[in-house]
Amino acid sequence: MSPSPHSAHVAIIGAGIIGLSCAWELAQRGARVTIYDTQPPGRGASWAAAGMLAPAYEAAAEEGAHPRLFDLCMESAALWPAFAASVSRASGRNLGFSPGPSLALAFDGAEAASLHRLAAALTRHGVESDMLLPEAVWDIEPAVSRGVHGALRLPTDGQVDNRAIVAALIAALHAQASVRFVDGPAPLEERKGRLCVEGHDMILAAAGWNTAAIKVRQHGEEFSLVNWDTALDEIDCYGGQMLSVAREPGLPSMTLRCGGIYIAPKPDRVIIGATMEPGIVTDHADADTIAQLRGEAARLCPAIAGATEMETWAGVRPGTLDHAPLLGATLADGLYVASGHYRNGILLAPVTARIMADMMLDGTSGALASTFSPARFAAATA
Ligand SMILES: Cc1cc2nc3c(=O)[nH]c(=O)nc-3n(C[C@H](O)[C@H](O)[C@H](O)COP(=O)(O)OP(=O)(O)OC[C@H]3O[C@@H](n4cnc5c(N)ncnc54)[C@H](O)[C@@H]3O)c2cc1C
Repeated sequence: MSPSPHSAHVAIIGAGIIGLSCAWELAQRGARVTIYDTQPPGRGASWAAAGMLAPAYEAAAEEGAHPRLFDLCMESAALWPAFAASVSRASGRNLGFSPGPSLALAFDGAEAASLHRLAAALTRHGVESDMLLPEAVWDIEPAVSRGVHGALRLPTDGQVDNRAIVAALIAALHAQASVRFVDGPAPLEERKGRLCVEGHDMILAAAGWNTAAIKVRQHGEEFSLVNWDTALDEIDCYGGQMLSVAREPGLPSMTLRCGGIYIAPKPDRVIIGATMEPGIVTDHADADTIAQLRGEAARLCPAIAGATEMETWAGVRPGTLDHAPLLGATLADGLYVASGHYRNGILLAPVTARIMADMMLDGTSGALASTFSPARFAAATA
C-alpha cells in the first residue's frame, strides 16, 4: 500500500536555501524528510549571496528571460513576510528581513534611460515605482553620491540576511522530529527503471549548480543524474565575487543598485557585489577584482572607498538559459527537481517550497508553476 501523501517520506539532495525551504514546507505539511549534503549545509550559493529580494530590478525588464519569471518573482516576494515570520518564530532568530524599498540609481544619461525602461516595464506589469530627482534621493538616503542624476524607488524590492535565514532554517529543521540531516551523498540508485533512495517515497534534487552531476548507481556503476533527464544539463554555473565592509557612519541603510553593482546593508555588515562570470566555478575572490568592485561601488556611495573590509568571497549561481528555475517532475519516475534559480534563489525560496510541496504531496500544479517544468527544456533538447 502506498503511503498517504502527507505522511510521505521525501529524500532531498542539497541543503542550500532551496532544499532547506522545501524541507521546511514539506515538514510543515506532515511529510518526513531526509536532507543529504556532501558539504556542510547551507554553505553553497545561498551563503555567498547578497540576500536581495528584488523582483523589479532583476526580472521586470530582463531580456531573454522566461516570460513568467517576473510573475514568479512577485509571487514569492508576496510570500516572504509570512515565510520570514514563520522561520524566525521557529528558530528564535532575527533574519534581517525588510520588504523594501530599494533604490536604483543613475549617474549618466545611459543609466537614466535604463531606469526609464525599467519604470515603463513595471507600469506594463501594473507595478508601482517612483522616479526621484537628486534632492529626493538624498532625503531618503543621504549616503548616495552628490553626482547622482536621479533614482527609481522600487517599493517591491526588499532584502533579507541570506546567511541568517539559511542558519535559521537549519536550526528550525533540526528541531523537527520528522526531519533528518545526513552528511554525505544520497544513496540514489535505479531499480527496475525507477530512481529511488531506500526507505523514501520521493526524491527532490536541489543541489544548485551541481544538480546534473548528482550520482546514481545503476547495475553496480555510477552515472550522473543528467542521464535520466537531459533538461538538467541546462543548469549552468555563473561565478560571482563579492566583499563586505563594516557598518560605519556614511554608509547606506537602503539597498542601492546601479547596473550590475549593488550595495546591500545587513544588520552587521554591508555587502558589495558582484561579478557575473558565466561558466566559472570559483571558490575564492581575486584581490584586483575586489578592488574594482569597491571602486565601482564608491561611485554610488563615496564612503565605501574608505570603509573597513570584513570579508571577500566567491560563489556559484545555478542558471538556466531563460534565467528561471526548473521546478517539477523529471522524466525519471519518482524524481523531482528544484534548481537553476540563477540570481534569484533567495527571493524564490518561498514560492519554490510551496510549488514543490503542492506537486509532491498533493499532485497539484497551478498554471504559473507548470510553465517552469523541466519539460520546457527536455522538449527543446529531444
Ligand atoms: C555572488 C552571488 C550573489 C547572489 N545574490 C543573490 C541575491 O541578492 N538574491 C537572490 O535571490 N539570489 C542571489 N544569488 C543567487 C542565489 O544565491 C542562488 O540562486 C541560490 O542560493 C541557489 O540555492 P540552491 O539551494 O539551489 O543552491 P546552493 O545554495 O548552492 O545549495 C546547493 C547545495 O547542494 C549541495 N550539493 C551539491 N552537490 C551535491 C550532491 N551531489 N549531493 C548532495 N548535496 C550536494 C551543496 O553542497 C549545497 O549545499 C546570488 C548568488 C551569488 C553567487
